[in-house]
Amino acid sequence: MTGTPPPTDAGTAGGILAVDIGGTKLALRAVASGAAVYEDAVLWPVGGAVEDDAELLEASVAKAVGAWGEAPVRIGVATAPNVGADGCVVSWPNRPDWVGRSLRAPFAGTGAEVLFGDDATLAGLAEARSAGSRDLVYLGIGTGVGGGLVSGGRLLTGAWGTAGELGHLVVDPEGPRCRCGTRGCLQAAVSAEALAAHASAGRGLPTTTSELVAGVDRAEPWAERTVDHAADAIARALRALVELVQPAHVRIGGGLGAALAPLPHRVAQHLSATVRPGRPLPEVGPAVHGPHSSLAGAVLLATHGTSLLGGADLLGGGSPA
Ligand SMILES: [Zn+2]
Repeated sequence: MTGTPPPTDAGTAGGILAVDIGGTKLALRAVASGAAVYEDAVLWPVGGAVEDDAELLEASVAKAVGAWGEAPVRIGVATAPNVGADGCVVSWPNRPDWVGRSLRAPFAGTGAEVLFGDDATLAGLAEARSAGSRDLVYLGIGTGVGGGLVSGGRLLTGAWGTAGELGHLVVDPEGPRCRCGTRGCLQAAVSAEALAAHASAGRGLPTTTSELVAGVDRAEPWAERTVDHAADAIARALRALVELVQPAHVRIGGGLGAALAPLPHRVAQHLSATVRPGRPLPEVGPAVHGPHSSLAGAVLLATHGTSLLGGADLLGGGSPA
């Protein structure tokens, strides 16, 4: 590992709660004096109404606070959905019934300050901070495909604060249509749904992502072809990023990305085969936090507030340099 040693997170004066609201599950971690004191993860009800989701979220938060026995001073929430400044869901392709509904309401009973951040952006911050890297690209592969870009030690936020949506980089103009409507987005090629479909076609049998991961572990040829397909698509996206922002490190995580052990190595192989000669290549590796990078990022958000999301120097302890 290269880079600066990661700073320590001593934590805020009181305890904090981190929550990761993903497309298929909800994860919670309470932290006191810099140490995790409570962990929980639950799946969203399949086909449940939005009221069931809200109830589960509220009950899970209450359970965390009850088990811990202390009210958190601040709650950091990593979200798969886009959340507006008023705390209402703007868009959530996986759970569209949430649109217009307050994501802040299920936390109201805690009395804590609640901060929201994009799950992949927060994951990128956590990975860069843990790697001690000032120039890192994070790619999270799960229900969707998210990204976080850290350049020069700061999150790249863009003019409207939502830069780094790597899932919607077009990697194949002739490729399948993405949920956003565009043809050939990275997400349309390597989301959990897309990889399950690719594996099913190659194997000639309906195949789940769990079966794909097991097939990869057994080095089944059909499973390796799917990993290769994913690596090729990811390398195409990275080729553009190498030219644009010159990352030193690439970290691949997310629920499915972290489970596909050979993926980072295959991505590195594809990248080195396609990049312009003489161009320095980033080191491509698995996410340090495995499938939990977004939750680790939510801890950072709750600990340091929104300064890191606003582009503060992430290796400088969270204060603007
Ligand atoms: Zn798209």
